[in-house]
Amino acid sequence: MDKQFAYQKCINPACSATFGCDETLFCCPACGDLLDVCYEWDNAPLPKSLSDFAKRWAKRNDRLDFSGVWRFRELLNFCPDPCKVSIGEGQTLLQPNPALATELGMNPKGLFLQYEGMNPSGSFKDNGMTAAFSHAKWVGATASACASTGNTSAAMALYAHSCNLKATVFIGQGKIAFGKLSQAMDYGAQTIQIDGDFDDCMRQVQDVCRQLKIYLVNSLNPFRLEGQKTIMYRIIEQLNWEVPDWIIVPGGNLGNSSAFGKAFMELKSLGLIERVPRLAVINAVGANTLTELVNDKHLRWNNGQVDNKAIRTYYDKLDATGFRPHTVASAIEISRPVNLKKCLRAVAVCNGVVLAVTDEEILDAKAQIGKTGLGCEPASAATIAGLKHLLADGIVGKEQRVACVLTGHLLKDPNATVEYHSHMARPFSNPPMRSANDLDAIIALIK
Ligand SMILES: *Cc1c(COP(=O)(O)O)cnc(C)c1O
Ligand SMILES: [Zn+2]
Repeated sequence: MDKQFAYQKCINPACSATFGCDETLFCCPACGDLLDVCYEWDNAPLPKSLSDFAKRWAKRNDRLDFSGVWRFRELLNFCPDPCKVSIGEGQTLLQPNPALATELGMNPKGLFLQYEGMNPSGSFKDNGMTAAFSHAKWVGATASACASTGNTSAAMALYAHSCNLKATVFIGQGKIAFGKLSQAMDYGAQTIQIDGDFDDCMRQVQDVCRQLKIYLVNSLNPFRLEGQKTIMYRIIEQLNWEVPDWIIVPGGNLGNSSAFGKAFMELKSLGLIERVPRLAVINAVGANTLTELVNDKHLRWNNGQVDNKAIRTYYDKLDATGFRPHTVASAIEISRPVNLKKCLRAVAVCNGVVLAVTDEEILDAKAQIGKTGLGCEPASAATIAGLKHLLADGIVGKEQRVACVLTGHLLKDPNATVEYHSHMARPFSNPPMRSANDLDAIIALIK
């Protein structure tokens, strides 16, 4: 495809300023709000049915058709095909998990885990990075940067390397799982550790990028979120284009939840699906800005008229008390989610719910996933921990179909896993046994 019918648009309805996709902005120059990528669908050729996308996957020698992101390219067509970068992202699996469903008291056929750990850098971030770097290539960027709790940096470093951009990662102090840090270093990114947390890094990186004209690949970048929409396309593709009742996703900077809501909003308005699923966004208790704002302060999308004052008051209180987010799920250890407003929109579109789960609940759920499925890192397990609450509260029905997004690979954070299993007292722990160097003693131990 050579013609693009895409533009950027401010999400604030009182502003609604529009910009070309060839501009690199990351927030509205008129009002400072977030930007969306929008499409003139009437002028852009679209497949008649969603199943046309699936046929492309068989063409393994066409890099765009084979990509789990770009074979849906008509739904995110913001740059010309030759600029589109792919390193085999999105070859991911929707895994039915009858064993875990049964443990949770659900219909055994009702639970699915979308395993995004199978991406080239081991997390869902590759879906977004392939889109962001395609845009970066199109606009002629030569250097990229991000603030990261780990996976963004791993994905950025990999994609930057694949299209010859420089990469600089900003990480907070002691807040990064070693699996992730090792990737950024190995893929050759410059890593700068700031004396502060993720939210501090996020503020600094925006100023650095503005001053040095570096291409920012955090999820403020609206092109990145376009790529993440395809996680939803792949879920419904694997359900034979049926929409599940629920999508459950962990919430950190809230890019994923925002992208998912946009994906379903667009598919519905294009008549490609008949209904949207409900969405559950799960925070960790130690980083629960979204949950507090929605459930306690009743903050809503409100057709785009978001109560900015309520958000400011909340953040002022965090500042005044010197609050620092804290959770074992380091990928969602974020207290100022940059996509908050887009996430509120997704929650409105998908009749969504938000809630927070404890670290203990996250780690138990992680062990249960590992025992019955492909495993995941702690943040991903917030989905199953959240699902337990939703089932107990009768919000998710036992007969409903639920798809949980396992955002990152088990091996991203081996410390969390080993630490959990080393404690006998944990409900699902599986500690290693010790034995004398003696055959009979060893045989006596075999279960
Ligand atoms: C980035 C990340 C998240 C958080 O996603 P957001 O889009 O920032 O809400 C959750 N899990 C993992 C494994 C991640 O890498
Ligand atoms: Zn604006």
